Amino acid sequence: MVADTKLYDALGVSPDATEQQLKKAYRLGALKYHPDKNPSPEAAEKFKEMTAAYEILSDPEKRDLYDQYGEQGLGGNGMGGGMDPSDIFSQFFGGGMGGQSRPQGPRRGKDIKHSISCTLEELYKGRTAKLALNKTVLCKGCDGKGGKNVKKCTSCNGSGYKFVTRQMGPMIQRFQTECDQCHGQGDIMSAADKCKQCNGKKVATERKILEVNVVPGMKAGEKVTFRGEGDQGPDIIPGDVIFIIDEKPHPSYTRKGDDLYHEQKIDLLSALAGGEIAFEHVSGEWLKLSILPGEVIAPGTLKVVSGKGMPIPRHGGYGNLIIKFDVEFPPSGFASEEKLKQLETILPKRPELKIPKSVEVDDSCTLDEFDASKHQSKSSNRGYYDDDDDDEEGGHPGVQCAQQ
Ligand SMILES: [Zn+2]
Ligand SMILES: [Zn+2]
Repeated sequence: MVADTKLYDALGVSPDATEQQLKKAYRLGALKYHPDKNPSPEAAEKFKEMTAAYEILSDPEKRDLYDQYGEQGLGGNGMGGGMDPSDIFSQFFGGGMGGQSRPQGPRRGKDIKHSISCTLEELYKGRTAKLALNKTVLCKGCDGKGGKNVKKCTSCNGSGYKFVTRQMGPMIQRFQTECDQCHGQGDIMSAADKCKQCNGKKVATERKILEVNVVPGMKAGEKVTFRGEGDQGPDIIPGDVIFIIDEKPHPSYTRKGDDLYHEQKIDLLSALAGGEIAFEHVSGEWLKLSILPGEVIAPGTLKVVSGKGMPIPRHGGYGNLIIKFDVEFPPSGFASEEKLKQLETILPKRPELKIPKSVEVDDSCTLDEFDASKHQSKSSNRGYYDDDDDDEEGGHPGVQCAQQ
């Protein structure tokens, strides 16, 4: 019994599929949905999903974890992390590697990851950021060879290290040590042939400027990848430089997917009798909106402005802007008692008090002003230490009642 079948469903196989069946399902799906064969966005999504599923299920260890615990078992690195869909794809269709898990020969260098911090405004409009990167490159003076007439070290067969056996008391130990002939380089050249530019080190450090194109509407966690821009080195296929979008918090907007949320204050008169509001949008323009007379905006009312959310990359269009209203009431004493009487002619009548007949009623209470420093209970979230001294005052309720 498996915990979750989502990944199997993505490939259209049953949870007891063999490795061969998984491979076949992925291959068939890839032929149908690969972006080269099918340019629709749905196909791209499907291809991504299938690839992520295959990446996990083709790894016996990950498949085991997934079967037992579902996606949770894979931690944060389960879906979406790890390999790029095209890497897996090329394992199938390029290079003739078939199902072999690890290619021989040069190893792939590490990916270099950087986060790129963007304001909501920048994510709305898009932005090109120029970022300088110090990277290791093959020396241009010797093409990464270290010098002229470089020969493979015969002592270590080019590996740069040797195995040495040593008797330590009763035991014989075998350990790896740097080759003394080539000093771990794997090749040998005469001092005169050594490259002057890198002094035989084969590599140099270079400052490279990368232009990161943040597309309008990109979201936190999305990646901009520069293939093969990672550190170079002898016998290394450079990894990628990956920039991960990070969204800075905004003082007056929050984002959920393609939608924007904005809290807007409105005066009581406009909330009751209509009026206008205006505020700055993350696009930089100002929005002016009308409250129609007769439309009542209560505190907490939600309204939507269609098409004023974030741009939607690839699909086009915009999300929505959702406004939550906060009604600002006038201060105490804003009008005379006489004027307030006029409100009675306009507003709905006061509701009748509904107190059950047979209960005792205490009508000696008063409503006093609330003062957090005096009235907040010690058990609320004020921390362990309290710097005001009038402890005796603490714990009184906001509404005081006469002792009976
Ligand atoms: Zn050089
Ligand atoms: Zn050697």
